[in-house]
Amino acid sequence: MRLVFLGPPGAGKGTVSSVINAEKGIPVIVMGDILRKEVAEQTELGKKAHEYMKKGELVPDDIIIGIIEKVLKEGNWNKGFILDGFPRSLRQAQALDEILKSMGLQLDKVVLLDVPEEVAVERLSGRRICPKCGAVYHVKNMPPKVEGKCDKCGAELIQREDDKPEVIRNRFRVYQNAIKPVIEFYMNKGLLVKIKGNRPVEEIVKEILE
Ligand code: ADP
Ligand code: AMP
Repeated sequence: MRLVFLGPPGAGKGTVSSVINAEKGIPVIVMGDILRKEVAEQTELGKKAHEYMKKGELVPDDIIIGIIEKVLKEGNWNKGFILDGFPRSLRQAQALDEILKSMGLQLDKVVLLDVPEEVAVERLSGRRICPKCGAVYHVKNMPPKVEGKCDKCGAELIQREDDKPEVIRNRFRVYQNAIKPVIEFYMNKGLLVKIKGNRPVEEIVKEILE
């Protein structure tokens, strides 16, 4: 299966895709993780991207499209893939189509995972991530076994700098402004599946797999 996961920040895209990865072995391409790695390594790309990320703005399309083209063309997708956090604008969606076409591939489904803004804000405020392996937790909903430590690799968990209330609200606005034409684009292709994200992870995973 070649899938795209759309949805506002905090919808649960990363959480659900990591469960599907564990159950089905489908690789997940997480655009935010790719960018955060560049930021942490202070590469030229990372420095540029950081200016947008810290404010909750979208990183310019040319940069993002360049990244995804390289990742897709260099990878092995025999087991399919899940794209998490890409595309986020119509131009990115159109570019993805072109890239996949040039590789003789196409998308199977586009999953729109939706939650109300208040749920997303509560989730993102309590989100903690592992800076080493990327695992995602929530202080109340999905706490780690040992407070502040990653279950998988033992590293100290951190709060993302853009998971602060002011930035969270801006990210939500940015998402809403850019995503409508993307949703229409995939709806017109008959690929869009809407899934309610405000319920237990297992239920969401089951519905997506069905
Ligand atoms: P996204 O990738 O869409 O931004 P995440 O998967 O990082 O969202 O989830 C955001 C936060 O919400 C995390 O702290 C995660 O632990 C928590 N979370 C994810 N899915 C659920 C769910 N179904 N119910 C409750 N909390 C959830
Ligand atoms: P995420 O981890 O998906 O919440 O993304 C974190 C931040 O990375 C976003 O707020 C954007 O600044 C940037 N980003 C991630 N994916 C994209 C994308 N497809 N297009 C533009 N910016 C992106």
